[in-house]
Amino acid sequence: MNRFSYHRAETLADAISRLRSNPGAAVIAGGTNLVDLMKYEVERPGELIDLTRLHELRGISETEDGGLRIGALVPNSDVAYDDRIAECYPLLAHGVLAGATPQLRNAATTGGNLNQRTRCYYFNDVATPCNKREPGSGCGAIDGVNRIHAILGASDRCIATHPSDMCVALAALEASVEVVGPEGERRIAFADYHRLPGDAPQHDNTLRPGEIVVAVTLPAASRGFAAHYSYLKLRDRLSYAFALVSVAAALECDGARISAARLALGGVAHKPWRKPEAEDALVGMAADEAAFSRAADVLLAGAEPRAHNAFKVDLARRAIVRALSQAAAATPQSLSDKRIA
Ligand code: SF4
Repeated sequence: MNRFSYHRAETLADAISRLRSNPGAAVIAGGTNLVDLMKYEVERPGELIDLTRLHELRGISETEDGGLRIGALVPNSDVAYDDRIAECYPLLAHGVLAGATPQLRNAATTGGNLNQRTRCYYFNDVATPCNKREPGSGCGAIDGVNRIHAILGASDRCIATHPSDMCVALAALEASVEVVGPEGERRIAFADYHRLPGDAPQHDNTLRPGEIVVAVTLPAASRGFAAHYSYLKLRDRLSYAFALVSVAAALECDGARISAARLALGGVAHKPWRKPEAEDALVGMAADEAAFSRAADVLLAGAEPRAHNAFKVDLARRAIVRALSQAAAATPQSLSDKRIA
């Protein structure tokens, strides 16, 4: 691990100014991803700015319009077990509990979950080329072992996927990200927070220099999906594994017909993958397999598998149909094996 200095920020303004004046610095809270990357020498920050004393980044509170605001320092486990989230946004609770382990969820924060880096093998191995880790060095995955990599939205520079489960649920719930930086506050729609790799895969998101995530807000309008939802995660083993494919599905039903739909995929792209056309294709339809299959076709249109991950296209198609079927039947996966008393 390289040498670095440590600064405990006492105020948000202090953290922002320190980050702005030192481009080699990184912010840290739970550290569940960053510390590993520092040990591998994938990340080599000259300074760590510790955010954990910033009380304004803590807590879950109701917004004026009936939504919920989750502070960036709220641990993943607190999100999963908050009664208001469990009641009004259960899709998020299920998404969070599908990720990592209880110990990691206790330490990992909401802001950190958004900003975690890809688990591409080559990104994590400094002996191999990687445009995300070292722009211009090449991509070890494109002609290498790419079983876990993207089938949608990739570029000829990078085919990495975003590893989060929480973010897939937040995308489906149309959350927004509140950030503060040198130019003040701004709110970013979740769909615009993470980016596709294009020709600059070193940038995972649309944060500007010096900006810090302070909260994520769930809109009141998404409470309507509390009855019909499913987070379905398919992976190589049942726990402590990243998604090969995951699906966040949420429906509002009017009798046997679908009146509103949300659908997002994880494990298939550089960001949670949504297409409004796929959701529009469900609205007004009977909640049956034919409609779900059509939505899957729309969502997966343009998929470009690589040498080792063609299986993901069919896996995703079947997972979408299954998750939508679970959501329509109001029989999401059980949380009973995930809850720690
Ligand atoms: Fe790096 Fe992206 Fe290629 Fe992985 S897929 S080696 S993260 S450039």
